[in-house]
Amino acid sequence: MSVLIKNGRIITASEDYVADIFIEGEKIKSIGKNLQVQGEKEIDATGKLVFPGGIDPHVHLDMPFMGTFSSDNYETGTRAALYGGTTMVIDFILQKQGHSLHEALSEWQGRSNNNCVGDYSFHMAVTDFNDNTCKEISQMINEEGITSFKTFMAYKGALMIDDRQMVGLMEEVKKHGGLINVHATNGDMIDYLIAKHRAEGKLSPLYHYLSQPEVTEAEASERFADMANYTGCPGYIVHLTCEGALNAVRNATRRNQKVFVETCIQYLIIDASLYEKEDGAKWVMSPPLREKKDQETLWAGINQGLVQVVATDHCPFKWQQKLMGKDDFSKIPNGHPAIENRMELLFSEGVNKGRITLNKYIEVACTNPAKIFGMFPRKGTIGIDSDADIVIFDPEEKHKISAKTHHMNVDYSAYEGWELTGKVKTVLLRGKVAIENNHCIVDKGYGKFIKRNKVDSKI
Ligand SMILES: [Zn+2]
Repeated sequence: MSVLIKNGRIITASEDYVADIFIEGEKIKSIGKNLQVQGEKEIDATGKLVFPGGIDPHVHLDMPFMGTFSSDNYETGTRAALYGGTTMVIDFILQKQGHSLHEALSEWQGRSNNNCVGDYSFHMAVTDFNDNTCKEISQMINEEGITSFKTFMAYKGALMIDDRQMVGLMEEVKKHGGLINVHATNGDMIDYLIAKHRAEGKLSPLYHYLSQPEVTEAEASERFADMANYTGCPGYIVHLTCEGALNAVRNATRRNQKVFVETCIQYLIIDASLYEKEDGAKWVMSPPLREKKDQETLWAGINQGLVQVVATDHCPFKWQQKLMGKDDFSKIPNGHPAIENRMELLFSEGVNKGRITLNKYIEVACTNPAKIFGMFPRKGTIGIDSDADIVIFDPEEKHKISAKTHHMNVDYSAYEGWELTGKVKTVLLRGKVAIENNHCIVDKGYGKFIKRNKVDSKI
């Protein structure tokens, strides 16, 4: 199958030009003005933006949690991602304490194999680092193509590792060319504050927010950066939300250390005042939404090159599931739906409102995730021999977000009624038209597990 995309305005992290793109099979074969080739399918992209498929490196699909599962499975989640211009996601495998990484890998493969519509990969969350799991690190990197390892500095007794394990894991991961992702919040402080609020009968969603103040994130981010600096292991802070935590990273740069930072779309555009609403549980996530001043810090951080990635931490639960915590904030399943909305929200709120440039938009939503996680230039850009993962985007079209029209398997939208400018029109995944005329025309099983390369910490 060949496809010719004609006359689009091609945007990458560094370029902006009008040209044609010729695709043969899964790859981009040529790019140029007025290409003299015939495509079996031709798409006129005049007046449209043409950019690389989005990569969301932080999602939780079909994730077991408190006896239930996040409500998007691999099929519905990756399909919704495609509708929103995201052609690849990286999901998280969670090791069970007392069990091996390989056991966790097979459990996650059991749910994801042949079920994805879009492309995907995994980070491996190491929740129990010991002599046995240590041996599995090099196998994950060299045999499975899983090159990033998630750690939790919070959720004691379930996911959290202590600093002794963290340093040991960092040394092993560094040795084999991997990277550590971290949920950087101080678990002990948060546990104390949750217990205190519950004992005082303060049980509404607002107390979820008040149990995770900025200092809990700033402290852990600084401690993580120090350990990464000591071991020399590349580090990546997931879902960074606030000024204090970003300042910890800024301080690390003063000793010429590079710490990668991801924020998520919600932390840029919505704030903690939502927790005072009756349906505040919809936005209960960890870390919680912050203040307006933190949004300013994060936008500035993107432009300063301190924040490299905008992801979602997509982890949807239906309203019925959220009601598990109706009488106690600590029982509300954490997470919100955004996998479908990220690219359009970031364009509308970021590019359209003059907060970031078009090139920066592509850099943080497509190119940097591919570079940091070992997939560039196969993914994350528009270039010869790259996978033909392409979004054709109308920068003028206005539309409204609603649960009635979204494709995520969740019965509310965290952005209900938001009016956006800029809409995904056509999406190609590895040379195949996947989204066209508001229909998904690839099936589950088309999405491929992408083995990733070792990490390039020089980005
Ligand atoms: Zn997460």
